[in-house]
Amino acid sequence: MHSNCSLQLIDITKTFSSISVVKNLSLSLLPGKITCLLGPSGCGKSTTLRIAAGLEKQDQGRVYINDELISSPNMHHMPPEHRNVGFMFQDFALFPHLTVKKNIEFGIAKKQSSNFRGKISNGLLRKINLDGFQSKFPHMLSGGEQQRVALARAIAGMPKVMLMDEPFSGLDKRLRDEIRDDTLRLLKEEGVAVLLVTHEPEEAMRMADSIALMRNGEVVQEGVPYNIYNKPIDSKVAAFFSDINRLTGRVKNGRTETPFGPFITPGFLEGSEVEIIIRPQHLKIDFDRNGKGPNPTVKDGVPARGLVHSSRFLGKESIIELKMETDGSKLQASIPGVFLPEFNTPLWLSIRRDRCFVFLKNN
Ligand code: ADP
Ligand code: MG
Repeated sequence: MHSNCSLQLIDITKTFSSISVVKNLSLSLLPGKITCLLGPSGCGKSTTLRIAAGLEKQDQGRVYINDELISSPNMHHMPPEHRNVGFMFQDFALFPHLTVKKNIEFGIAKKQSSNFRGKISNGLLRKINLDGFQSKFPHMLSGGEQQRVALARAIAGMPKVMLMDEPFSGLDKRLRDEIRDDTLRLLKEEGVAVLLVTHEPEEAMRMADSIALMRNGEVVQEGVPYNIYNKPIDSKVAAFFSDINRLTGRVKNGRTETPFGPFITPGFLEGSEVEIIIRPQHLKIDFDRNGKGPNPTVKDGVPARGLVHSSRFLGKESIIELKMETDGSKLQASIPGVFLPEFNTPLWLSIRRDRCFVFLKNN
């Protein structure tokens, strides 16, 4: 066990009707840091968060808050209201019959004086830019304003840990970006350790100090966004963050032949099948000049020619799909800005070798 962690899950397992939805999961949250629990729908993110919150009890494993053991299978399980954690969920509605002020003060212990409670709620309203909204009722506020009040209520009790389960997904994109940035900045400023559950890789890349990527109840890779994106442990992790291209081949004499020339693939058994993964933005496109492409280089290997199968403009970038002449395979390249070559235009592709990932196939 590390010290200085705001919340630690150690070796957590949870089974529902004989299916393990969380398996031997460990996770640590640090003060003032945002950890994103990222993964596809159904992989066990909410169950993990509910165990951290105390809303669900694990079958195996321990939960620590500020280095204090607060739950394990053979001890009394500390209930959510005693854990000093804040929650935010997508549908965590405000009380409709209470004013904004009363809603926020609901999050502050009853034993505090009403003077103290008033001071805290007024201060929080200022922080979320809703000064003057004290006596309004929830139905008088927009969705974004309601979400900010829900945030104020969640942090009114000054929790050291904030658990957020897709809290922004009910908002329109523009509003979501703004509220999310403001919310998380405020939590960081207060030194709160945040667990943010999301199924959107862009959201995790943008917000996280650390990403824990989940698959089938397990954390398969954890690290800073840069490393997860650029050093994925397998092709599924790579594919979770963007479309990918795959080249497959068999290792012979420590090399694998591809349409882009041989790749040195040490560390794989002779004869094993490997896949070389490249993201669309790491393929380079060149024009065809009388049947010739660019010269081969050490960095980009041998260029290979293909015919344009489709080209689409997506705003920031264009996606070109090419049918390769070598083997008929289709590869996707992404080019910043507008590039819309016609169907069947011959183009040359080269591959940035420093951006390729090589894995054993079917891992
Ligand atoms: P996520 O939040 O990643 O979408 P969940 O943690 O909600 O995933 O669910 C993981 C799996 O556990 C799903 O297959 C879900 O149906 C199942 N599950 C979640 N809660 C319960 C429950 N209370 N009883 C039975 N199965 C559950
Ligand atoms: Mg969920």
